[in-house]
Amino acid sequence: MSQDRERVVIIGGGVIAISSAYYLAKAGYQVTLLERNRFGSGCSESNCGFICPSHILPLCEPGARAKTLKTMLQKDSPFRVNPFVGPPLWGWMLRFMQRCRYDYMIEAAKARHALLESSMRLYHDLMNESVIDCEWKSKGLLFVFKSDKAMDDYIKTNDLIEDQFGLGAKPYDSKALAELEPSLKPGLAGGWLHEHDAHLRPDLLMSSWRASCEALGVEVIENCEAQSFTIESGKIVAVETSTGSVPASKVLLATGALAPKLAKMLGRDLYIQPGKGYSITTSRPDPCPEIPMIFVEHSVAATPFDDRYRLGSTMEFTGYDDRINRKRLGLLERGASHYLKQALGDTVHQEWCGWRPMAYNGIPTISQSKSVSNAFIAAGHSMLGVSMAPATGKLISEIITGDTPHIAADPYG
Ligand SMILES: Cc1cc2nc3c(=O)[nH]c(=O)nc-3n(C[C@H](O)[C@H](O)[C@H](O)COP(=O)(O)OP(=O)(O)OC[C@H]3O[C@@H](n4cnc5c(N)ncnc54)[C@H](O)[C@@H]3O)c2cc1C
Repeated sequence: MSQDRERVVIIGGGVIAISSAYYLAKAGYQVTLLERNRFGSGCSESNCGFICPSHILPLCEPGARAKTLKTMLQKDSPFRVNPFVGPPLWGWMLRFMQRCRYDYMIEAAKARHALLESSMRLYHDLMNESVIDCEWKSKGLLFVFKSDKAMDDYIKTNDLIEDQFGLGAKPYDSKALAELEPSLKPGLAGGWLHEHDAHLRPDLLMSSWRASCEALGVEVIENCEAQSFTIESGKIVAVETSTGSVPASKVLLATGALAPKLAKMLGRDLYIQPGKGYSITTSRPDPCPEIPMIFVEHSVAATPFDDRYRLGSTMEFTGYDDRINRKRLGLLERGASHYLKQALGDTVHQEWCGWRPMAYNGIPTISQSKSVSNAFIAAGHSMLGVSMAPATGKLISEIITGDTPHIAADPYG
């Protein structure tokens, strides 16, 4: 195969990059992955680890404009926007607002559905073939409601995803919920269980996938920032980095929330903004949830692992700011304590924040560059990068190889 000698340089060391590296290496390419910091240290190893086909609906839905403004004015809202960040965020917001229509929502949902469903199947293959080893559990995802109104409001959403995608959840009233999950406080309104969802431990996903890729010959270079490209006759011939020049036959940008910067150098405007989220990882509380949960009214998520436990939440549009705001971090425990008998474990292992690569329309970009023919982009996976990683990696490898895509590629162009 001619591609045996071709080197694909992947920029980024997150879950989208490692998935792409895996499928490209399997397709016979020589793969070099460049990460500006430590592999996995972006958004991919300390998130909530939900693999959630249930999350097909994007944030831009009818009514999101009013909801966004209302939550911005609420004290302690998990959602925050700093309008002084400047024009890129204003442009993103404007586009987001324009997408808050039913037809756009369904268009995005269909695009997300294809990636989520395919990824779920591919995850099973990856585990059966022992490519990844990451405490995978198929226990579903439980949406927990404090008020009867919010519980009832979910019926409409559930009907929509059941009718259009066959992915409806099972309702539990207050008593049944307390029996299903004894870690919850009594007296909550109820819950909806999305039985098809699963969860995993993201740091183990990243380390085991990296090991499998390295066994296939993938080279991972850390502390190496891609800064520019050498382009000859409309093609990249080398990636210029903080540690020198890296020759490339093809280049894939998988730089998460930072993707717009390098994409701009290739003549492409990407409307992706960092949506900062927080997590706190502790020992398992007693009692510890067995099923991963989302506490809907407070937008906090809880994930149990074998010997750890994580709360995650918040969405801040405050630009490329990577500082931990302790007040915001505190919202996690405060939010969860409305629902759980024990919101956190005794020993804190990690406090973290990361930038979700938020695409204004809820659809990731997985495509070839129009102006530089050997450049490709896989970015903008918003709140679902882990859930969509396998199908994204497989699809971009098919686009690069010229093979027939296993799912239609058009929605991601
Ligand atoms: C609190 C929280 C909870 C979440 N929970 C879930 C969940 O339960 N399920 C789910 O599916 N998703 C979840 N997500 C979203 C998920 O984490 C992201 O969608 C996903 O990690 C994005 O992966 P990525 O590879 O695109 O980006 P990243 O993981 O950010 O990787 C991009 C990498 O590129 C590197 N980079 C950038 N520029 C350069 C450069 N010039 N040169 C070299 N390297 C560069 C960065 O350092 C970074 O490591 C959550 C996110 C947050 C914040």
